[in-house]
Amino acid sequence: MVFHSVPTLIQSFFPKRIWNKPDGGQKIYLTFDDGPVPGVTDYVLNELSKREMKATFFMVGANVEKSPKLAREVLFEGNGVGNHTFHHLDGWKTRLKDYLTDVELCNQILEKTLNEKPKLFRPPYGTMTGRQAKVIRETQELIMWNVLTGDYDRSLSPDQILKNTLKHINSGAIVVLHDQEKTRDIIRKVLPDLLDFLADQGYQTAIL
Ligand SMILES: [Zn+2]
Repeated sequence: MVFHSVPTLIQSFFPKRIWNKPDGGQKIYLTFDDGPVPGVTDYVLNELSKREMKATFFMVGANVEKSPKLAREVLFEGNGVGNHTFHHLDGWKTRLKDYLTDVELCNQILEKTLNEKPKLFRPPYGTMTGRQAKVIRETQELIMWNVLTGDYDRSLSPDQILKNTLKHINSGAIVVLHDQEKTRDIIRKVLPDLLDFLADQGYQTAIL
């Protein structure tokens, strides 16, 4: 089952994780997970920059290692970058020490590649234990989301993804999309319309 918006009850269980940023303005926080991936991330960058929009990219360390130039381009275009572990680990299936080591590995490759320490972290699959969260929170902000586009869900048509997303978007929303192999095609069908809609509605994109 796909939650297109995260119920506030779930959000209230984890008040120290950031689910949205309502600030009274017309801001939207677009986020892209799992890249950088050639042929996908560069497409996203181009669509964003055409409209002078920005997003935050939660990168997988192994992908940064494979495509460092693309990772730098994300930052160079004025977008935000965060840590998404080195091997895209599931926190619930990974021991504390192994998880923290993997997070640190991703921090190291990001710092080496981008010349700056990532201040943000997002757990793959949205799963992490309380102990994992507690340690990571000492140095990084934990960024969750409140709107899932479902772009990775093959049972959804581009139209359904767009409709579901637009229905749940509101000011301060943190929206999850993916720049990875599985979303290579769907992102081309959904992203231009989504970005145009946001612009038409007067939303401004911001980085986290
Ligand atoms: Zn992910």
